[in-house]
Amino acid sequence: MSQSHQLKQELLQFNVAQLLKERTEASRKFNIQNAAVYVADLGLKLVAPVSGSVRLVKVAGDVLVTGTLTTVLQMPCTRCLEPVDVPVTIEIEETFIPITDIATGMHLTLPEDVDDTILIDEAHILDLTEVVRQDLFISQPTHVLCREDCRGLCPQCGQNLNVGTCNCDTTTIDSRWSSLLTFKDNA
Ligand SMILES: [Zn+2]
Ligand SMILES: [Zn+2]
Repeated sequence: MSQSHQLKQELLQFNVAQLLKERTEASRKFNIQNAAVYVADLGLKLVAPVSGSVRLVKVAGDVLVTGTLTTVLQMPCTRCLEPVDVPVTIEIEETFIPITDIATGMHLTLPEDVDDTILIDEAHILDLTEVVRQDLFISQPTHVLCREDCRGLCPQCGQNLNVGTCNCDTTTIDSRWSSLLTFKDNA
C-alpha cells in the first residue's frame, strides 16, 4: 500500500431501504474520501484515493445516482514510456433499479436488456463499484506525455532521449532533408 492509500477504504455500497420508502425526490448525500475500487484487472494504476461525493435521489421507484469523483492514474508516457501521473475526474449519472419491491419484497419485472451493474439487490444494497470502475476505465486519456517536448525513445536502441543521447546514426533516417539542405546551400 502506498502512502496515498493510508486512509481507510470505504465500500461504494449504500443501503437504500429507507430511501426507497420515502417520497420521490428524497435524497442522501455521501462524501467519499477513499473509495475501495479495484482496477488492476483493467490495466489501471491509481496513485491517489478515489474521492468526491455522490448523491442518491429517489425517482419514482428507482434511485438516481449523480456525483463527481476524482483520482490520479499513473500511465506510461506515450513517447518515452516513463510513468506519468494523470489526474482524472469522473461524472456519475446512473439510475439504479431495485429487483424487489420495497413494500412487499416481491420480485419486480426488470427491463429485458438491463445491465446487472445497476441493480439494487434483495438486501437493498446499491453497489456503485462497477459503475465507477467502468467510468475510470473510460476516463483514461489515449495520449499522455511526461512533458510537452518529450523527446521519446531512440527508434534504434531504445535510449530515453530525455535522459541522454546515444551513438546511433540518425542523420541518414530521412534523406529528403539532406537534399533540401543541399539545395539551400546552392541557392
Ligand atoms: Zn515522455
Ligand atoms: Zn539510439
